[in-house]
Amino acid sequence: MSFIWTIAEQHDGELKAVSFELLARGRALADALDTRLASVLIGAEVSEAQLQELVVRGADEVYYIEDRRLAEFVCESWSNTLATLVRQYQPAVILAAATSTGRTLMPHLAVKLNAGLTADCTELAIEAGTDNLLQTRPAIGGNIMATIKTPDNRPQMATVRPRSTVPLPRDPQRAGKIIRVPADEAEVETRVRVLGCRTDAEDFVNLEEAEVVVAGGKGMKRAENFALLRDLAAQLDAMVGASRDAVDRGWIGYPHQIGLSGKTISPKLYIGAGISGSIQHLAGIKTAETIVSVNRDPDAPLHSIADFAIVGDLFEVVPELTRRLKALKAAET
Ligand SMILES: Cc1cc2nc3c(=O)[nH]c(=O)nc-3n(C[C@H](O)[C@H](O)[C@H](O)COP(=O)(O)OP(=O)(O)OC[C@H]3O[C@@H](n4cnc5c(N)ncnc54)[C@H](O)[C@@H]3O)c2cc1C
Repeated sequence: MSFIWTIAEQHDGELKAVSFELLARGRALADALDTRLASVLIGAEVSEAQLQELVVRGADEVYYIEDRRLAEFVCESWSNTLATLVRQYQPAVILAAATSTGRTLMPHLAVKLNAGLTADCTELAIEAGTDNLLQTRPAIGGNIMATIKTPDNRPQMATVRPRSTVPLPRDPQRAGKIIRVPADEAEVETRVRVLGCRTDAEDFVNLEEAEVVVAGGKGMKRAENFALLRDLAAQLDAMVGASRDAVDRGWIGYPHQIGLSGKTISPKLYIGAGISGSIQHLAGIKTAETIVSVNRDPDAPLHSIADFAIVGDLFEVVPELTRRLKALKAAET
């Protein structure tokens, strides 16, 4: 019996990177408990090679529930299907990603299973002696880290922020079992009909996957000034992010928010302009490789963690960066 499960995610038959991040988390827990790790995938037309990739990245077993009607995420039918599988195999732990799919699915599933659920965990561990899952997440505005456990109910369920873990390296020698689970007619039946998916909408800003992010805060002063950041972003093939203050003022949409109550990003390069660097904002950029801060206040907290701190007026510095990048590109061609 597998005791640790991860819920893999796919789009159009392609596994999402977060599926491998969850396996890294799950592997550590399964090894600590000396038990097996399974990944559950729901969808349609996922190739054998993709299923095998879950094994190569750490799973001992893969449960693949395939049905054309399950290709797109529909909470009701996915949750029904998963609940049946959980009742059958009784895993001790289920980890899902804190993506919009995971955040919607897991509460629904938790209610069905009468289980607890800790959202947005940053640390997971096994408690010595009890084998309970220790689920740690920021609480009270990010000022403390709270560790939560569920000693009485099973499964223990948690969501984990995308990009908060590095996937395990591929191990093509790993062997595992692919178990194809037929979908139950009654469970797949749903009152929801998917008419299509909009991937052009603002909600789909995929900041988590961006290699370069240029973000603006309250120092940007008004919505129109974000055009300066978009110009810079265009030179760097970057996406535009923001602090909560900028989002709350309506200068840019919520999907751009970085931080504790926004997105966790892990780009190679993050440039923050007019962002002070509150603890809640920093929670979202902890794993960025290189941090550049542009702020006229030399004591801004973002400066102190930045690899490059530019003390100056962003309305001079940002256009100057854009100008120099343009000049560099022109010189290269
Ligand atoms: C529960 C909770 C969750 C939260 N979640 C988030 C979150 O997810 N993300 C987040 O960002 N915040 C979050 N916050 C809010 C957070 O506490 C801060 O209020 C917010 O991050 C501040 O945004 P800011 O840096 O843009 O603004 P400020 O802190 O006001 O900083 C603006 C900065 O701009 C600089 N500046 C001004 N003019 C210029 C100029 N011309 N040139 C250069 N620099 C200039 C100033 O020196 C200042 O440092 C959360 C708060 C709570 C309580």
